[in-house]
Parts: sequence; C-alpha cells; structure tokens
Amino acid sequence: MTSSTPPTESQAFASLSLPDSMLDNLANLGFEQMTPVQAASLPASLDGKDVIAKAKTGSGKTLAFALPMLTRLDPAMYAVQGLVLCPTRELADQVAKEVRKLARFLPNIKVLTLCGGMPIGPQIGSLEHGAHIVVGTPGRIEDHLRKQTLDLSRVNTLVLDEADRMLDMGFFDSISNIISKTPGSRQSLLFSATYPDSIATLSYDFMREPVTVEIDTQH
Ligand code: ADP
Ligand code: MG
Repeated sequence: MTSSTPPTESQAFASLSLPDSMLDNLANLGFEQMTPVQAASLPASLDGKDVIAKAKTGSGKTLAFALPMLTRLDPAMYAVQGLVLCPTRELADQVAKEVRKLARFLPNIKVLTLCGGMPIGPQIGSLEHGAHIVVGTPGRIEDHLRKQTLDLSRVNTLVLDEADRMLDMGFFDSISNIISKTPGSRQSLLFSATYPDSIATLSYDFMREPVTVEIDTQH
C-alpha cells in the first residue's frame, strides 16, 4: 500500500480561485492538472501564507511560486514586486523564461535577470527603466544593493529557489542581507530538493509560520 492518491478533479488548475485570464493562459500552455507539489502548496501560497516546499527537480516548482507572485503583481507599478533568488545564472535564466510564459496573461510584465558573469552596466540601465520581477543570484543582487541600483522596498513576494544549493554555495549571509532589505509584510516561499539544518535556521529567521509541504521522492 502507498499513501499516494490518484489525480482527481480537485487537482485541476480550474479548481483554484485564479483569474480567468490566468486559467486561459495555463490552458493555452497545455497545463491543466497540477503536479503534486503545485496541488499541495498552491492553496496555502495563493492564500498568502509562507510556504516551504521540498520536492525533487522537474516537479514543477517554478509554477508553484510564480502563480502566487503573479496574482498580486500590479503591472501599472514599475517597481520590483517579486524577487527570486537562484543559485546559478543557468537556473535564473530558466526561471525567468518560465515566469515570462506564465505572465503572458498580464500586459507588459518585465522580468529581469541579475546574475554574475554578465556586465553590470546594462543591468543598471534595465533597472532604471523599471522591472516588475527580478530573478538573480545572491552575489549580483548584493552588488546592486551596494550600488543602490536596486530597490527592494516594494517586494511583496520573495522566493528562494533551490535553497539547499544556494546554502551549499555559501550564500547564507548574502541571502539574509538581501531579505533584510525587503518589507517584513512580504510573502516568503522557499523551495528545495533537500532539507538540511541550515534551511531550518534560515526559515526560522525570516519566515512567518510557514506551511511545510513535502512531496514523496517517488512522485
Ligand atoms: P522544478 O523547478 O521542480 O525542477 P520546473 O518548474 O522547472 O521544475 O518544471 C519542469 C517542467 O514541467 C517545465 O518544463 C514546466 O513547464 C513543466 N510543468 C510545470 N508544471 C506543469 C503542469 N502542471 N503541467 C504540465 N507541465 C508542467
Ligand atoms: Mg526549479
């Protein structure tokens, strides 16, 4: 016997209270049924709760944090409202690509990647024009904070993607510093494939009564 349940009606995106335009966009992308980590986390995250989700690679974690972020985005406000921290430039590029697809139902959403290994000048130029969502690596985000070229005071959704890998790379202090520049009222979402003690420490420091979701690795 296993404790897994077969997909049911309740795992359709249409069962969530999402704007019709977002549901239409998901259907156009061919996304109809939620993956297990999406079905387990979206009810809480769309309700504004902090969430820690542990699930393996390829389980659909990007959408799980992009939907709550996009539902509270104000396209008319040219300020960074969503911030996603990723361990590497490759992962940041993948996340930005997926978020842009999911944001197609909103007009002119600017998703900017800020990663090391890229010249900083053009990034500063892009920031001056305004971005709604920033996806980046902790080191480069800190560079921009130091230069005061990035304002995080309007962030309402903070995401730590692949948190275990970022901590393995020694980013604990950088992440803490970046989070301290965001409003205390933000929603925090943490995604990870594993759950080492350092994640518990980090989440204790900056999350508010997080809902924890753990998806069995065989899914
Ligand atoms: P993870 O971050 O957990 O490794 P991703 O968010 O990169 O996984 O998603 C892996 C792939 O699954 C992507 O190509 C994404 O477009 C696709 N995907 C995500 N959610 C769904 C869904 N509900 N239905 C179909 N495909 C999905
Ligand atoms: Mg991912």
